[in-house]
This record gives sequence, structure tokens and C-alpha cells, in this order.
Amino acid sequence: MSKEIVILGCTGSIGDSTFRVLESLGTKYRVRGLSADRQVDKLIELTRVWNPAVVCVGCEGDVEYVEHQLPGVKVLSGAKGLIELARLEGVDIVVNGLVGAVGLEPTLAAAEAGRIVAMANKEPLVMAGGLILDAVHSGGGAILPLDSEPNAIWQCLQGEPQAQRLILTASGGAFRGWSMEQMSAVTPQQALRHPTWNMGAKITIDCATLMNKGFEVIEASWLFDVPIDMIDVIIHRESVVHSMVEFVDGSMLAHLGKTDMLLPIQYALTHPERSPSPLERLDLIALGALHFDEPDWERFPCLHLCYEAGRRGDTAPTSLNAANEVAVNAFLQERIDFLDIYRVNKETLAACSTQPADSIEAVVEADRTARLYAEAFVDELVQSPQLV
Ligand code: MG
Repeated sequence: MSKEIVILGCTGSIGDSTFRVLESLGTKYRVRGLSADRQVDKLIELTRVWNPAVVCVGCEGDVEYVEHQLPGVKVLSGAKGLIELARLEGVDIVVNGLVGAVGLEPTLAAAEAGRIVAMANKEPLVMAGGLILDAVHSGGGAILPLDSEPNAIWQCLQGEPQAQRLILTASGGAFRGWSMEQMSAVTPQQALRHPTWNMGAKITIDCATLMNKGFEVIEASWLFDVPIDMIDVIIHRESVVHSMVEFVDGSMLAHLGKTDMLLPIQYALTHPERSPSPLERLDLIALGALHFDEPDWERFPCLHLCYEAGRRGDTAPTSLNAANEVAVNAFLQERIDFLDIYRVNKETLAACSTQPADSIEAVVEADRTARLYAEAFVDELVQSPQLV
């Protein structure tokens, strides 16, 4: 019998990679539902290829157009539509390729409904990891990491209960080795050039600040149930070692592979089996050498903030995530400088009190409060950058 799958955020880079995996896996998977935000024409095209029964668009105003283009397909919209899609009856796997906090409620809905949720969208775990894990336990499903580094750790941990350290590798982003002075003047275009991975705008900026790596630390702490301080970050510019685990006897296991999201996505979909893939093989001799360095904490202080928020726990990571979404948007709109992203994040984390993250309402409220604070701080920076 084929597995039924829903892909949230199917028009982004995770969607593209997931469809490549599905093409190579053949008839063992059937697409039941797809969602897109604004790229409705791409959604229509994909729906014609994959024949899902239900689709969801970001904006209600697009529903009529999509219905007209896709007779017989149910068309949902907005946040409610995403939740309905996430808990669609009879679905086995929900792939979450959404970007940002918008993925939280669909993730909770899918987990509560007992689905296997394959997560590329890391913000929900950063914001509300405890709530998501509770929903996974009560729903009886699972949460699987699609992100290459947590996915690598997951692979290294198979049948291995005695890990003592998780080591996440980081490419170092677009500005590895740049001086503070150089970084103060970078444009969004420069920050959007990632050295090894090809991804959406938000995550590429998060890679350039190392915020993305810090979020992976928080994400991994939830996924693998380990304290924040058992997780290290190491700079590895080739992005060939996707992550590593150290065990109590001093052994280390590493996961190596091409820098292609096809690999972690396929592993999550076929787990606990492995299937052949069309991916080019890794040529270690051509690579010759691999490099590992300490992260530069001074030039990439956002990494510190993630550890700090992770240690504080509760709604501290929620506040930090909200601030960062506001700051990255403001940078992409050229309202603030690249280094201001850290200032917005730091000020917001310091200003927002940490509350118990024991309900969706508490998390949503912490997210809202932090966004308001961060937006006001961005306005101050825009008006008088030298005074703040
Ligand atoms: Mg990653």
C-alpha cells in the first residue's frame, strides 16, 4: 500500500526537493494535499502533476482563481486551511516546509492527529518544542527532522543510546572570515549568497548571522532530549560532514554526504529503510581534505543569544525567534543594517520576560509581545541609528 503524504509549503526549496524524492521513489507515495502561500501558479502546476485532492493557498482572494483552474480539487485558504490540511484524514506523513512561526499551529494539529511530521520548518520547535513533543506523545505519531544537521544526528543515533555530545556542523554562512567593518555594510543581495546550500531568503540570512545554527541547537535539544550544553557547534566550510555524535567511550560517528536536501528528506520518508537514490556519490579523493574550526563567537554573537535563550527555556526562545523574524524582514527591506539584526534580537530577548511555555496561548502571547517590541526597536533604529 502506498503512503499518503501532505506537503505544506510545497513551492519552496523543501517542496522542490521533496518532489525529487517522490519522483525517484515512484508509486510508494501518494500526494494527498499541497499548500502554497503566494506562488499559486506553481501550486496549480504541481497539482496537475501530483493530483492531490486538497490544496491550500495563503490568501482567500486566490481561492476562486485556483478552483477555476483545478476543477474537482478542494481549495482551502489561510491559517485555518493549513490546519485542516495538516490533519487531513488518512494521511501518513506531513512534510512541513513552511517558513517561520506560521508553521506552529499546523505542526501541532498534525502531531495531535497522530501524523508523522517531517520538519524542515525549525521555528515551531524553537518557539514551542515542549508543546509539540506533548502533542506527538498524545497523538501517537512522530516528529522527524528534515533539516540536514539534525537529520544527520538522528542517523548517527540509530540504535545508539549513549551519546554524550552532539556536534552540529555549520558552513559559516556568507560572511565567514569577514571583519565587523565589512559586515556592517553588507547588502541583502550579498547575504543571500550562501556558499554551499541553496535555500529561501529567511533561512539564508539566518545562516549568515549563525542564528540558523543556534536555532538548530535548540531544535536538537528538543528532538534528541539533551540539554543545550551537550550540543556544540563547529564550523566546517565544506558542508560534507552534516553533523556528528560523540559517545561515552570517546567514539564519534559522523554523517557525510552531498549537500543536497534529497538525502535527509528521502531518509525521513523511507525510515527505517534506506532506498537507492539518484544522488551523485561523494568523492572523498576529489575532496582531499575537510576542515573544522571554532565558531567566531565575537563576530557572530547571535549564536550566543540562542544558547542563552535555550538555557533560559520556556518562552525565551519564542521571544528570540519572533525578534529575529522581525529583524530579518527589516534587513531584507533595507530598513536596518546586517549587524542590527543582532541588536534587535539581543534587546528583545533582554526586554521580554520569560513565561512558562505551557500552552499555545502563552506561546502566541510571547511571540506577539516580542514582535511588538522588536518592531518598535527597528523603528527607533531607522529614525536615529546613531542614538540607539
Ligand atoms: Mg540546517
